[in-house]
Amino acid sequence: MASPVRIAALGGLGEIGMNCLALECEERIAVVDCGLLFPAEPFGVEAISPDLSWLRERRDRVGAVLLTHGHEDHLGALPLLLRDVPVPVYGPRLALALLRPRLEEAGVRADLREVRDGEVVRPGEGSPFAAEFVPVAHSIPDACALSIATPQGLVYHSGDFKIDETPLDGRGTDLSRIEALGREGIRLLLSDSTNADRPGTSLSESEVGPALHGAMEGAPGRIWVACFSSHLHRIQQVADAGRAYGRRLVPVGRSMEESVRLGVELGYLRLAPGQLASFEEARDLRPREACVVVTGTQGEPRSALGRAARGELSGLPVRPGDRVLLSSRFIPGNEVAIGRTVDGLVARGAEVLWEDFRALHASGHAQEEEQRRLVRLCRPGHFLPIHGEMRHLSRHAAHAAAEGLGADRRHVLVDGEVLELSDGGVRRLEERLPSGRVHLARDGGFAAVSEDVVRDRRGLAELGIVLVAVLVDRSTGEPVRSPEIRGRGAAGLSGREAEVAGEVSRAILALPAGERDAASMEREGSLAVRRWFRREVGRRPAVQVVVLSI
Ligand SMILES: [Zn+2]
Repeated sequence: MASPVRIAALGGLGEIGMNCLALECEERIAVVDCGLLFPAEPFGVEAISPDLSWLRERRDRVGAVLLTHGHEDHLGALPLLLRDVPVPVYGPRLALALLRPRLEEAGVRADLREVRDGEVVRPGEGSPFAAEFVPVAHSIPDACALSIATPQGLVYHSGDFKIDETPLDGRGTDLSRIEALGREGIRLLLSDSTNADRPGTSLSESEVGPALHGAMEGAPGRIWVACFSSHLHRIQQVADAGRAYGRRLVPVGRSMEESVRLGVELGYLRLAPGQLASFEEARDLRPREACVVVTGTQGEPRSALGRAARGELSGLPVRPGDRVLLSSRFIPGNEVAIGRTVDGLVARGAEVLWEDFRALHASGHAQEEEQRRLVRLCRPGHFLPIHGEMRHLSRHAAHAAAEGLGADRRHVLVDGEVLELSDGGVRRLEERLPSGRVHLARDGGFAAVSEDVVRDRRGLAELGIVLVAVLVDRSTGEPVRSPEIRGRGAAGLSGREAEVAGEVSRAILALPAGERDAASMEREGSLAVRRWFRREVGRRPAVQVVVLSI
């Protein structure tokens, strides 16, 4: 009898981001990816990581982390994990190069082991798993899928992927290898669901080049192109198109400058001598000699594009005649922020183009036809959609159904739920691993912000706060004068402070004399204010009562 294998996601099943998957067998654990999620409504939270406590409590059993590629939503939480669970990380070269500075910033030392395409690694000594890194096309060079041999057969993890027949670097998804694995027999396919609701196939990355070229034609001023900084293939095409018009490439902003430097150093980015210009050099260039590449495609206010849109990029202002190309998808939820950025750019006289007009962007994720093609190539016994919100996971399962996988072979799970592969079959267990979200604020590395703090901040932002100061006589516990009421952002209070003060006094006096300790008076005062607001205003702002005895 072969040992059972248990698979559970700590993140990435039920959300797009914070991908982290654990495989357990014979009390040994292998982890695939460990990423962050970026909140749409920050409230001082800069990132969200999966709850990693289940792994921390089993640190002696964890053999290694297998990294599929270098995106933040796959590696960003690794400093938090490796700090407590110091295991080797196996991954492609670019992923490790992007991870290294994050570990340094967090002061975490780690054993990083570079893996070549097709290489097989054992995640930890004596591990029952062996993982083969299978090349795939995605929106970052070097991305991989994992074919993991287990005592219960092959588990194929797609990573983030698309099927690009004409990839820019010639390194596409290795369809013949996947087909061979399918013939060998794949017990379980885990596949990227991000674009499950998009029919057809994704555009090839190499179709973006001509579109960029066309969009740059005839621009009298500076060209600005916004894209993700780790998308080195896209940056290559921006550089090439710009060069055709005699424009030098000017990376602006910390992450873009760093990414271009790394891309050139590692050979992912090929630029002609003198093609690259620094921010300082760019100030001396004529506008039509510059092709500025920046981040900020999602309307991030602190990005270079966000600053340019507000006129805060001193030395390199956006001016009439400039043309801005957004080489990206508008990620749902970010439209308002993106709109604000575009408005700012237009107000400064720039012309702004995005993928609605031309093929300025190609997604890095497989769409329906590609997802179904992967199912056909893998011919899996069972199917588990990963990397998506609920609607993406269930749509992806429907695509698998259309490829002939019956209901007993499709498993839609969310974070924490456990799928077990055993000799008896594949089924979801009743048990759940602890999973959840940890809110983080930048602090050298990242520090946790508790759920209560975030809830308070959200409440304060939406409904404001009412502050009440009560001076009471130490011996009698009676208010010596009417309580002071102040509101910040609390609608309905202005001009009615005296009413609220009266409620607070009455509530305190209603307490028996022997029970007028500070905590009780604060509790009763606070209840009275809340009651008043609910009754009179129909809202529930935060309330803070402070009782001082004199
Ligand atoms: Zn990715």
